[in-house]
Amino acid sequence: MYLQLIEKTLRNGLQALILVPEISLTPQTLGRFERRFAVPIVTLHSGLTEHQRSTNWVACYNGSAAIIIGTRSSVFAPMLRPGLIIVDEEHDISYKQQDGFRYSARDIAVIRGRWENIPVVLGSATPSLESLHNVRLGKYQLSSLPERATGAEREQYQLIDTRYSNSRTFLDKPMTDAIGKALQSGNQVLIMINRRGYAPVLYCNECQWIAPCEHCDARLTVHQKQAVLRCHHCGFQTDLPKTCANCRQHSLTPVGEGTQRIEESLNNLFTGYPVLRVDSDSTKSKHAMQNLFEQINLGKPAILVGTQLLAKGHHFAHVTMVVVLELDSGLMSSDYRSLEKIGQLIIQAGGRSGRESKKGKVFLPTAFPEHRELNLLTQKDYLEFANTLLIQRQQYGLPPFYFHGIVRAESRSKNKALQYLDSLRKATANAGSTEILGPVLPAMEKRVGYYRAQLLIVSIGRAELHRAMLQIIETAKRIKTSTVRWSLDVDPYDLY
Ligand SMILES: [Zn+2]
Ligand SMILES: [Zn+2]
Repeated sequence: MYLQLIEKTLRNGLQALILVPEISLTPQTLGRFERRFAVPIVTLHSGLTEHQRSTNWVACYNGSAAIIIGTRSSVFAPMLRPGLIIVDEEHDISYKQQDGFRYSARDIAVIRGRWENIPVVLGSATPSLESLHNVRLGKYQLSSLPERATGAEREQYQLIDTRYSNSRTFLDKPMTDAIGKALQSGNQVLIMINRRGYAPVLYCNECQWIAPCEHCDARLTVHQKQAVLRCHHCGFQTDLPKTCANCRQHSLTPVGEGTQRIEESLNNLFTGYPVLRVDSDSTKSKHAMQNLFEQINLGKPAILVGTQLLAKGHHFAHVTMVVVLELDSGLMSSDYRSLEKIGQLIIQAGGRSGRESKKGKVFLPTAFPEHRELNLLTQKDYLEFANTLLIQRQQYGLPPFYFHGIVRAESRSKNKALQYLDSLRKATANAGSTEILGPVLPAMEKRVGYYRAQLLIVSIGRAELHRAMLQIIETAKRIKTSTVRWSLDVDPYDLY
């Protein structure tokens, strides 16, 4: 459908802008479009050199680029003859910039479309609740593709009850049998876990000490190959200690599973089959990602282990079995968006499988096999699941029915951050239907050496929220401080 719309745009002599969520998807998208369209195509993303980027930017500006493919910030690319904007995988949270200038590229695309008077297409197999809500309000028009693009059957989802399993890992007998069978039939298996590194924590068996980050309220992750502990929030790194920092005993063990540890277990269990790990550690170098995907696309039996990087738009024609791990932390999370994200992740991961003639099967180990929404998702479909979540959001007064804004303050001193927000709140009159909640400390109080506190602003309407935020900006300008940094975030993705 995208291709037909782009064709029409090009026939009218106009430019098409296509946003993709992930930089690793740009070569793939570029290749697909180059094969189809004989027009100048440019890409815009952070992986380009300064020179490439400015050349491509000029090509957008002077109209010589007919198709522009880019990540988040390319929504601002100047176009001489704009004709169409496509936001692919519109549900993806990487469209939201969460620091510095905070914006949602998807929402800006919609506004830009209105200003330029051109069509905007938000594409996804798992649309965000915001977009589905906008369809119901009549702001967006829904076009459904009845079948998967390749005509393959919908994959099957199976919840695996982990409550009575004796095995300490997900690799119990039924699971290893299923993986072995898939490999022997010449197929590939995809195992997804949203945690890179070897193990999430280093734990002392004697005194229960867990290696912490010195700069954040976070635990360090074990990276076995490099023999280091690393903080995934601030990048702090230290050598893997031999003894416990608290009781000085030789009693440290890595606990839990990350991509590296799963890779190791699978290598031991399935000798003779390659285990390919795809996460931000294994794909750091420029061509690593491409090399991995080339190897996967050869189609030889193999096990793919990775983070949700693997679920983003890549096509794996030879994968017939998918396992999604660590669902339960998402099912039980205090973040109200987490269930939506888990649902999207499951369907996106499942969608990687069974392309072409091979039907896929998705295994979901969980200690909550009766979970109502999870069953809706796996037995019915994503839309039923999403509609149920929308009803809940409305009942609890959450977005997209209500509007959120966050004022964050960061300081070396916890009290200064809290006091600053307190004075902001007191000086800002509670306006009618808008509520200001806080200040509170998020679950992770300290990050990269700074304490973080926040105010949550809840409004019944967009205009009311903007009014309250403007009032806060005015107040913040008056209250001078050199020890507190503050920032605003409208429609925040992360409340914690
Ligand atoms: Zn840290
Ligand atoms: Zn100890």
